[in-house]
Amino acid sequence: MKTGVIGLGVMGGAMALNLHKAGLLHRIWNRTVSRANEICEQTGVAVSDSISTLASECDAIIICVSKDEDVLEVINAIAEGIKPGTMVIDTSTVSSKTAKQAADIIISNDGEFLDCPVTGGSEGAKNATLSIMVGGDEAKLNTARPVLSAIGKKIIHIGPTGSGQACKAVNQVICAGINQAVTEGLAFGQGMELDMDRVLEAISAGAAGNWFMDHRGKTMLAGTFEPGFKLKLHHKDLKICLDMASTMDEAGLPLTSMTVADYEELIGQGHGDEDISALFRLKKN
Ligand code: NAP
Repeated sequence: MKTGVIGLGVMGGAMALNLHKAGLLHRIWNRTVSRANEICEQTGVAVSDSISTLASECDAIIICVSKDEDVLEVINAIAEGIKPGTMVIDTSTVSSKTAKQAADIIISNDGEFLDCPVTGGSEGAKNATLSIMVGGDEAKLNTARPVLSAIGKKIIHIGPTGSGQACKAVNQVICAGINQAVTEGLAFGQGMELDMDRVLEAISAGAAGNWFMDHRGKTMLAGTFEPGFKLKLHHKDLKICLDMASTMDEAGLPLTSMTVADYEELIGQGHGDEDISALFRLKKN
């Protein structure tokens, strides 16, 4: 499948390189052109001059942009150029409502749409080991499978359109809790002046071990917060989760509310473009 990628940031850029390795990358586009030119230099793949041109030149399109309104802006531009039967795969994290709106626009222009948010971090994107949560028609997923297999290791059909994003919301709530637990625990250990290399080695192998501590533990202890996953993006995701929870009868999402408030404090201090592990800043005295 001739595949195009729109949005070549931390995640989309790595996906494009993996699609190139798989022989599938056909066109790229990024709002900031210099970034698209970097990927073009690395791969030799042509940069389209607009989103609608890219849409007219590809059989499959991966989108990886920041927020709900960005996805809808890109979707409307795709709709101007899309060929019948083109598969549009949105890997951004947005609300289920946005996924349904995007699907309506694409399907009414004779294309196909799957919401395919991902988890596994920037490392997962780089190593093509992402876990992909798919919403949409299962038969269409089979068409998209070669493209998804080039960027991820686990591909799970969750249910109809929007359910991939609903699954991702569950993931983001859990990530908020893990971030709270790991930053608090490691700041506690550092406060006791323990040898934190030894602490990490010991506890990673036991019941408290987890991906986030393995990948961000050392850097947060060293006071460096290079993204990774930008704090302002997780804040955006958690606001979506709170919005979804507000329509339900369940107990609410207290840990998520607390994390949103903490992130807002950090964003106010100018740390929104740092990794989510910058939460560590609030845990230290
Ligand atoms: P990023 O590095 O900040 O990249 C964002 C990309 O979106 C850039 O290419 C940016 O273009 C583009 N963009 C933003 N608004 C746009 C618009 N209105 N029109 C066109 N392009 C636009 O972010 P990222 O970490 O790759 O995250 C991308 C998505 O994946 C987000 O929804 C995020 O929540 C999700 N995600 C991230 C991770 C992670 O660990 N980083 C993991 C899973 C999912 P410019 O270059 O011009 O700014």
